[in-house]
Amino acid sequence: MPRPLLSIVVPALNEAANLPLLYEAVSAQFDGPLRHCDLELIIVNDGSTDDTAAVIDEICARDSRVRGLHFARNFGHQYALLAGIEEAAGAAVITMDADLEQPPRYIAEFVRQWEAGAQVVHGVRQDHPKLPRLKKWTSRLFYRVFQYLSRIPMEPGMLDFRLLDRQVVDAVLSMTESDFFLRGIASWVGFRQVRIPYESDLRVHERTRFTYAKMFAFAMRGITSFSVFPLRLATGLGVLMTFSSLLFGAVVAIRHFFHSAPQPGYASTIALISLLMGIQFLLIGMLGEYIARIHIEVKRRPRYIVARRTHAPAHAEPGDRMRRGAILRP
Ligand code: UDP
Ligand code: MG
Repeated sequence: MPRPLLSIVVPALNEAANLPLLYEAVSAQFDGPLRHCDLELIIVNDGSTDDTAAVIDEICARDSRVRGLHFARNFGHQYALLAGIEEAAGAAVITMDADLEQPPRYIAEFVRQWEAGAQVVHGVRQDHPKLPRLKKWTSRLFYRVFQYLSRIPMEPGMLDFRLLDRQVVDAVLSMTESDFFLRGIASWVGFRQVRIPYESDLRVHERTRFTYAKMFAFAMRGITSFSVFPLRLATGLGVLMTFSSLLFGAVVAIRHFFHSAPQPGYASTIALISLLMGIQFLLIGMLGEYIARIHIEVKRRPRYIVARRTHAPAHAEPGDRMRRGAILRP
């Protein structure tokens, strides 16, 4: 039987301290439970400002199964994942963070599921007891809202630790939207999906690169790129408001002309106007979100730019690798 090639894709922003540990842990898996598979480890350096680039070069020099992709600047976690997936040649692609919060020992389990026929294996993180409560709540809230609005079964803890079969990878790569949101896409594409709960190891060198502002932007992006519900909300509310104000007007007119009842003062008017203004601003803001998305999409810019590679692979000669992600589109 031919040995299957597994591609491991790791986005890395300032992970100089973690990468050597990650490399050791991953290659230990391929000396152990995954002996029957070949490894291809792709580390995407997402514009790191520490020694990450040098560390990647050093690991690549030691092991020809490892390749590095260095972005021209920080393009973000999702684009680093995308670049790595485009680069991957494996029969299955496994994405994981560089900081060892997603323990490499689960890779073997992912692969077992894949060999048993699963095409997407999602790692679902069980909440760590030490996770800050606010982070837990905000992430739960996001997934609730996202699931409700987009009808895509995504759940809390479905981070970007997953295995994608080649067929799924090709489907994912056929999506050319600028706004790449792998978590949503990986569920959206369908195929045979499986969930594996995993327990997060405490961060080895703990710190997150996501601020709350970044997380909010991320959540907005996820929702607006998968759901048009907020747009429909505007229509629905508009209809409702129009009818109820017509009704209100009619009641006032009837009371005035037929019952000669005194009409309430200006306070209620101001309350109503400010309420309507508030709703209007909100909805204009929502429209703005979508227009911004359209604006970004129509520019058709490349989604990331690769400045340099360590160990350019034989299968990706310059002309060939310049798919939509890298540098130029066809
Ligand atoms: N990362 C990246 N670009 C970014 C932010 C993060 O490539 O702009 C990488 C980071 O190096 C890590 C993964 O994405 O491998 C997840 O980031 P982090 O651990 O900060 O996120 P969290 O664990 O808080 O979800
Ligand atoms: Mg992390």
